[in-house]
Amino acid sequence: MTLTEKDSQYLWHPYTQHKTAQTPIAISRGEGALLWDENGKEYIDAIASWWVNPFGHSNKFIADAVYKQLTTLEHVLFGGFTHEPAIKVAEKLIEILPKNQQKIFFSDNGSTAVEVAIKVALQYFFNKNEKRTTIIAFENAFHGDTFAAMAASGISFYTQAFQGMFIDVVRIPVPIKGQEQASFDALTNVIQNHNCAGFIFEPLVQGAAGMVMYEPEALAKLIQICAANKVLTIADEVMTGFGKTGKTFAMDYVSEEPDMICLSKALTGGTIPMAITTFTQDIFDAFYDDDINKALFHGHTFTANPTGCAAVLASIDLLQTAEMQANIERINASHLEFQKKIENHSKVITARTLGVIFAVEIKSDSEESYYGSMRTKLYNFFIENGVVLRPVGNIVYILPPYIMTNEQLQKVYKTIEEAIEMV
Ligand SMILES: *Cc1c(COP(=O)(O)O)cnc(C)c1O
Repeated sequence: MTLTEKDSQYLWHPYTQHKTAQTPIAISRGEGALLWDENGKEYIDAIASWWVNPFGHSNKFIADAVYKQLTTLEHVLFGGFTHEPAIKVAEKLIEILPKNQQKIFFSDNGSTAVEVAIKVALQYFFNKNEKRTTIIAFENAFHGDTFAAMAASGISFYTQAFQGMFIDVVRIPVPIKGQEQASFDALTNVIQNHNCAGFIFEPLVQGAAGMVMYEPEALAKLIQICAANKVLTIADEVMTGFGKTGKTFAMDYVSEEPDMICLSKALTGGTIPMAITTFTQDIFDAFYDDDINKALFHGHTFTANPTGCAAVLASIDLLQTAEMQANIERINASHLEFQKKIENHSKVITARTLGVIFAVEIKSDSEESYYGSMRTKLYNFFIENGVVLRPVGNIVYILPPYIMTNEQLQKVYKTIEEAIEMV
């Protein structure tokens, strides 16, 4: 039996209708921006394996750090114990995060980072004897698939089976260019009419919605409205963090600071599942009390896993090298050039770039759904041509590992141009 045949016997894949899905591709090796399947076919990983892998597959520097940690202290419980890798990660993050972020809480994935932030927002007011139970989120947001994260997410077919079982979430429009005022007004209105605890948002780029972008000034204004009304703000940087937008964090573009930040994905350079939620001192203080009931009763078995911490430290070291920063600028410049080239194409609605993120919306005759027919056609075309891209409906986006070569990038662009001609 091939790997693919064995897979279909035993495995259940994410976001997959197994009755109609194509068989998955068995990948046996990765190096840099390249992947090879079990038959030796080569693919360019143009989406950094769901946005996690900025420094290339099988990265030797991270692998060495992880190996060293595995043979020193692979894991120890974090309740009642601590260790140097966790402390070093905290020190490093506090150095590079927005200045008001002072406390670090570990978990395992993007959804749990969000889950923790939402629970903290709700308990913050519970601890202060204030009744505030509504969470504000953007339309078409994606914050993960666990319950509170799913409640905050607005991609409806992901969540329709669970309507009515969620925490209270009210949605406001994204302040895309030209529609900022509607977003500000909606936020003010929601805050006046509900007891709002927190506002969660993907800063500047909504990844799963199809790399929808909006301006830092608009986000600053929304944060100001929240701050004036003591609504806690949660920046979900799970996708945008660690260089994707051209700065270390998307919030580095924004004049206002959020109360909490969620991190995962590129946090470990795409090697080990780990996540972090960060907080202001004020939030920590609302839980700091002689009363044990005011503590945050949340934890995961693998909290602050030392091996994961070692991968985080190695990843941040790599991100901060002049070479990696130059790579990010190189890819951004290259994307901008490609954008100029195709944005006037008759089949293109619009194209946009921020940092290493590029997206193009292709004209389609019918309203194109998330997993619609154009999406399947495009996806198959890319795979046949050895490029891993996962379009969102009629939107094709690139989010390459920063180490992708110019030659590989050009091949990705060329394949997208051919795909636009084909559909
Ligand atoms: C991917 C993602 C999540 C969820 O992360 P998981 O590790 O898949 O649980 C949450 N928020 C954003 C913005 C994401 O892109």
